[in-house]
Amino acid sequence: MSDRSELVSLMRVSKTSPYRTCQWPYGEPGTEDFHFCGRKTSEGFSYCAAHVKMAYREPESRRDAAPRRSAA
Ligand SMILES: [Zn+2]
Repeated sequence: MSDRSELVSLMRVSKTSPYRTCQWPYGEPGTEDFHFCGRKTSEGFSYCAAHVKMAYREPESRRDAAPRRSAA
C-alpha cells in the first residue's frame, strides 16, 4: 500500500522544472500561431538558454519608462 507515496516521490525527483522543452510562448495565446519555443531547456529551467536570459532580465517597458540606472 505504499505504492502511492513512492509514485509521488518519483514525480518530485530533483528537477526544478518538469519541462524538457522550452516553454517560451510565441504568438498570441488562443490563436493558431501560438506555440512554444520547444528547444531543449537549460538544466533546472523551463526555458532554453536564450530564453532564460530573456526571462530573467528586467522587463523593458513593463515598469515605468524610466531611463536605465547605471548598474550599482
Ligand atoms: Zn526557448
